[in-house]
Amino acid sequence: MSGGRPVLDRFRLLAAALVVCIHTGPLASWSPAADFWLCRVLARIAVPFFFLCSGYFLARSGWRDTGRFLKKTLLLYAAAVALYLPLNLYGGGYGPLEWGRRLVTEGTLYHLWYFPAVITGVLVSRGLARLGTRRALALAGALYLLGLGGDSYYGLVRRLPGAGAFYDGVFRVFSQSRNGLFFAPLFLLLGAAGLRWSRRTSALGAGVSLAAMSAEGFFLRELGWQRHDSMYLFLPLCMVFFFSLLLEQNQGEDRRARRMSMLIYLVHPLCIVLVRGGAKAAGLTPWLVKDSRGHFLAVWALSLAAAWVLDVLRPLRVPPRGRAWREVDLGALEHNARTLRDMLPQGCELMAVLKADAYGHGAVRCARRLRREEVRAFAVACLAEGIALRKGGVGGTILILGYTPPEAVPLLRRWRLTQTVADAAHGHALADMGIPIRVHLALDTGMRRLGIPAEDLEVLESLYRRRELRIGGVFSHLCVSDDLSQETYTKDQLDRFYRAVKRLRQAGHDVGKLHVQASYGLLNLPPQPCGYVRAGIVLYGVSSGEARRQPELRPVLSLRARVACVRTLRPGDRAGYGLDFLAQRETRLAVVTIGYADGLPRELAKRGGRVLLHGVSCPMAGRMCMDQLLVDVTEAPEVRAGDIATLIGRDGRAFIPAEETAERCGTIANELLSRLGTRTVLTFG
Ligand SMILES: *Cc1c(COP(=O)(O)O)cnc(C)c1O
Repeated sequence: MSGGRPVLDRFRLLAAALVVCIHTGPLASWSPAADFWLCRVLARIAVPFFFLCSGYFLARSGWRDTGRFLKKTLLLYAAAVALYLPLNLYGGGYGPLEWGRRLVTEGTLYHLWYFPAVITGVLVSRGLARLGTRRALALAGALYLLGLGGDSYYGLVRRLPGAGAFYDGVFRVFSQSRNGLFFAPLFLLLGAAGLRWSRRTSALGAGVSLAAMSAEGFFLRELGWQRHDSMYLFLPLCMVFFFSLLLEQNQGEDRRARRMSMLIYLVHPLCIVLVRGGAKAAGLTPWLVKDSRGHFLAVWALSLAAAWVLDVLRPLRVPPRGRAWREVDLGALEHNARTLRDMLPQGCELMAVLKADAYGHGAVRCARRLRREEVRAFAVACLAEGIALRKGGVGGTILILGYTPPEAVPLLRRWRLTQTVADAAHGHALADMGIPIRVHLALDTGMRRLGIPAEDLEVLESLYRRRELRIGGVFSHLCVSDDLSQETYTKDQLDRFYRAVKRLRQAGHDVGKLHVQASYGLLNLPPQPCGYVRAGIVLYGVSSGEARRQPELRPVLSLRARVACVRTLRPGDRAGYGLDFLAQRETRLAVVTIGYADGLPRELAKRGGRVLLHGVSCPMAGRMCMDQLLVDVTEAPEVRAGDIATLIGRDGRAFIPAEETAERCGTIANELLSRLGTRTVLTFG
């Protein structure tokens, strides 16, 4: 197939030019009929085209990016409203109620209707999309027909009984029926459907339906039925063929064209005002205003220049996937949470362990995605991690598993965090601060790390007497649950735990939520009579020990970096620090932009560490450097500078699990993953 150009993005510029046509009427002073066709028929494909693009891209991500899309659109809309505020005020302004109505229905200036329309439209389409493509399209089509009756066919439809009253009602809210309810959903959903035909069929379909729409336009104009002229019967048909034609040739993206088209859309009404004012001041009105072609060209040139300047001035970001980055698959995280939850007995919930920035996976983003999956309890290692989650907007229970100094009690309270009581002295010191806080009691059942000795009923009772301690749970940690040869020790730990719980209950205490299993406790033990399972490493789809149950879990994290350059060594050439690498044959070496300062163990290069490039597993060469490493890519001849190298995760059919890399370096995946956060950028997909 030919093509290979980002035609979708480039066409946005043409669509922006068509919008400028609508607002300047380039052919008006030459031929009113030609101008009608250009601005009132042909140019009507511009805004639907933007809707189709949005629908297409949103649906391709399973509508998962809807939130981000709406946020971005709202921000742009807010900027546009602010930009045009002076013009609004100059025009006299309106009362606060009218402001509110315009903001949510039709925008505060004529071209801004697009923003409320796309926002409402996306919300409506997303809802309709849940019904399945056919039904969604049918309903959106019905809405479009209703809208049509208030637009191009108003003169006809108004005569039907009840129609007048209906549209009067509509126009009291929206001044046009081309809006987020009647107009946008159909085009968004047609984009989402991504309909495609061959190039010939698409071109033919687009040509025929454009001709039909032109005829329709002139016909309606003759009859004088149009209240407005943005909705035609043939418009949706024209759009699907046309979009298919572009899709068929589309490849890659042109972000600059995308940004420029939006900027032109935003600024062109301001440019109209400036051209008029400027022309008047300079005495050029006959050429730049009265002559419609000159007017259009002046407005277009100024808009293009303004958009270009704004684009150049935009803040530049470091490309997140430019050097070394972690890719977190939140869908896999969600899948794992669901799979693990299905293993829990009735009444037992998942407590997601998010310590060390979610084992290097980004705690806030992980927590937010898990909350969507109805996970309501989280565990972190320390106070700062708990506060970071709250600041990231995470609700629910957050248990700090580690020590917090008593003087930080006010912070525990302020951020509604639940603190682990590490031992008797810690518990009393926390209570002595005189501020009521939520706590869970840690029982030591044999690990000898944190916890009150499980047999020490007197100490436990003394803590229950402290009114400042709101004890909402009792837990313990198993230290050999990942070792099936030490099951008796684990069983002993469980016995000590449940015996202590029983005695507390007999003494009349409400022990609250019990929890004793972490990942390997969940995989290796029968279901426990507990309120939580504290799942850490399994949640990330990684294993680090023996397991009796083997649920189908997906690895969440991939680690990738770029190829900086590739060089060829002759046999006998050496490379790297200490000249550690010796080429036995003609060798192609790639320099990959990641090193031990990014959290990779330095000894990995010597212990058979591998990197995936173009789906080929290539050996690391020589010694790993602080910021880069050498890879022998002789077996992958297509490797070029700029390519993406995979250090953990999948590339085509090849896969490097985190466990494998950890094992090579004599550690566990938990350590490897939690150390990756020093310099690598976190990205989410
Ligand atoms: C880290 C930790 C967990 C989670 O352990 P995984 O093996 O990663 O599931 C659970 N409980 C406590 C007390 C921990 O410190």
